[in-house]
Amino acid sequence: MTSSQWVPLKPGDTIGILGGGQLGRMLALAAARLGLRAQVFSPDPDSPAFDVVQNATCAEYADVEALELFASDVSVITYEFENVPSATAMILAARRPVLPDPKVLETTQDRLAEKDFVSKLGIPTARYADVNSAATLRAAIGKIGLPAVIKTRRFGYDGKGQAIIREGDDPDAIWADLETKAAILEAFVPFEREISVIAARGSGGEVVCYDVTENEHQDHILKFSYAPARIPETLAEQARTITKTIATALGYVGVLAVEMFVVPGADGPTLLVNEIAPRVHNSGHWTLDGASVSQFEQHIRAIAGWPLAHPVRHGTVTMTNLIGDEILDHGKWLTVPGATVHLYGKGAPRPGRKMGHVTEVKPAGPAAK
Ligand code: AMP
Repeated sequence: MTSSQWVPLKPGDTIGILGGGQLGRMLALAAARLGLRAQVFSPDPDSPAFDVVQNATCAEYADVEALELFASDVSVITYEFENVPSATAMILAARRPVLPDPKVLETTQDRLAEKDFVSKLGIPTARYADVNSAATLRAAIGKIGLPAVIKTRRFGYDGKGQAIIREGDDPDAIWADLETKAAILEAFVPFEREISVIAARGSGGEVVCYDVTENEHQDHILKFSYAPARIPETLAEQARTITKTIATALGYVGVLAVEMFVVPGADGPTLLVNEIAPRVHNSGHWTLDGASVSQFEQHIRAIAGWPLAHPVRHGTVTMTNLIGDEILDHGKWLTVPGATVHLYGKGAPRPGRKMGHVTEVKPAGPAAK
């Protein structure tokens, strides 16, 4: 079955979710609220998403038989992570609609393809160069200058697979440490802040953006999100326009996040696109409690072929990630007035592991007359 044979889902239909982490869990919960069922496919028996669904498939992504059975149980398939192996996506897409279309992954799984794609749309990014050896790294440094950031083209996340290169560093040693054959070098961006736009594109092409989110990282991991971002409205509008252009050019169906840098300039701040996440995103978790419809429900609506919501933000929102041992403080958070605590049901709190988050919504005051 192809996407063109796809018809809107009915309440009671089942959505297949590839990946069993917290994003899959929150997608499954959102589906349940709309009267839809979810079946989660994950190789990890301890997947937190398994706890909230009746039907789960615990198998490797290369297990063709398990994939075929999974596909036969569901009406539409989506994913909670961008590194879905292409063979897995192809097997599934031959049997059921997979949304967003796995073709999107060819662009977003590869930082070079992604940057080329964004640049061809006329959207600014940091200056970048293709690197595949110590020699090409030296050439790229000559072209881009220092400081710069080297990133593996694939499988990087939360600052893994990347390093800053400064004046005096040894490019040969940095290249050897990266243990990759394919990377890109980016100019280091002296950003003033980081923002993201969470948007949904429906099957009919409509794009709905949430208010722009401002993100603060600690040790390369998202720690706080603030909505709305503290940026001028003209810049926020530009960020939404960029996101709409990207979602439309990808032929996207579902929720995506576009991460951007806000760069100070003589004529005011400007935007550079850093990364596209073809999925619901940590910087959109504030929408669970801070908006009338969350990013998770919005994604489910999009892939179900249902109308998108036009979410209303309830106030000024702060989202705080509980990372590693911070989960041990959840009892304190439970008593904070106005705070909503989300725990992901994960086992051991390893350093850097996202264990839960807290949202705090300060209601907007009465509108000025
Ligand atoms: P990424 O994996 O591309 O999302 O990068 C992770 C984080 O590293 C970003 O959120 C930024 O804080 C930082 N970073 C990435 N690329 C650059 C860059 N070109 N210049 C400065 N900081 C960067």
